[in-house]
Amino acid sequence: MNSEYSPETVVVEAGRPPRDHDAPVNPPVVLTSTYVGTGPMAGEDRGYGRYSQPSWDPLEEVLGTLEHSALPGLLFGSGLAACSAAMQLLEPGGVLVLPRHSYMGTVTQAREMVENGRAGYVEVDIAETGAVIEALDALDGRQGLLWLESPTNPMLEVADLPVLIAAARERGVRTVVDNTFATPLLQRPLTLGADVVVHSVTKYLAGHSDVVLGAAVTSDEALRARLLRHRSTHGAIAGPFEAWLALRGVRTLALRIERSQSSAAELARRAQGHPSVAAVRYPGLPGDPGHARAAAQMDGFGSVLCLELPSAEAADDVTRNVRLWTPATSLGGVESLIERRRRHDSEPATVPEGLLRLSVGIENVEDLWNDLKAALDQAPAGPGSPASEWETGAG
Ligand SMILES: *Cc1c(COP(=O)(O)O)cnc(C)c1O
Repeated sequence: MNSEYSPETVVVEAGRPPRDHDAPVNPPVVLTSTYVGTGPMAGEDRGYGRYSQPSWDPLEEVLGTLEHSALPGLLFGSGLAACSAAMQLLEPGGVLVLPRHSYMGTVTQAREMVENGRAGYVEVDIAETGAVIEALDALDGRQGLLWLESPTNPMLEVADLPVLIAAARERGVRTVVDNTFATPLLQRPLTLGADVVVHSVTKYLAGHSDVVLGAAVTSDEALRARLLRHRSTHGAIAGPFEAWLALRGVRTLALRIERSQSSAAELARRAQGHPSVAAVRYPGLPGDPGHARAAAQMDGFGSVLCLELPSAEAADDVTRNVRLWTPATSLGGVESLIERRRRHDSEPATVPEGLLRLSVGIENVEDLWNDLKAALDQAPAGPGSPASEWETGAG
């Protein structure tokens, strides 16, 4: 789906109905579970609603185009359904190499593969390029799959994508990149040679915290056929209306990101000077360990930042004292969300107890700062906690 247009135009223009006289400007929501047909089924027939839906097509076209694939993307019922399909590309007995601070659902899926005796996995610090390459070398003939997430959720570590993808390729190891945080507007891993990109469409792409949806995109016909077969067989499909809502959300993706990431940069800068904040993590800050890499490989630094408070109690208090920010999990919506990540049992102990993840929305930045500052002012002054690993730049 090559496009002559920039991504800001693609999100608006792609996936429209043909311009026939009196045709609607937007695609319809088609509600059907089956399609009329006689005689033997042909490969391109829609056939049945688990295999194909007209309401998926426009968004799949937009996502393929945005990720610079010649093929349309594949929608799934959730981001994790897309991750699960991509993980099945690892043959039985293979080894998954994945960031220790991957999205927690991804790590849970990897653990389950091990428990089922299907495959092994090793966790790596994705910012340590040498250590990741060592893990690839240690595969020693076993089939591997390198899972990349950059920036990671929630630690915002930045992987050296060009180097790691090339290293995996040289060793015959496939790479999957979870591109949820960056979105294809800020980073296009397929152009660096990644095999598959997965998205939680729930987040920035849909952008309004009103749908759960996922997608996988690849430029490889054979891999796409496998992912499609997995979707058709296992049935983690998107509903037509959810796909339509996400398409509507995607139309404003460029505008939303422009606003939210400029606000995120401003909030990160201001929070750095606040006495209750032990550390700020945002790849856009010049002192951030991921800054140079992010500047080299991304078209922007994204709209998520993390604040480390001295303790879990202090961080919880901030989430109780904000009025405009919504204390809730998830990210990428128009409304700003704040969450202490370790409130989830499954979040690893390497994530500091007092870490707050902030997903910056599109509200007025002064309103966001005033509300956040008022809540931070009520928190005890730092430092309080021992310097966490990522504060020292090791993460
Ligand atoms: C939310 C998220 C997922 C899971 O997506 P769902 O749509 O919630 O299933 C996967 N990866 C990342 C980075 C996420 O933020």
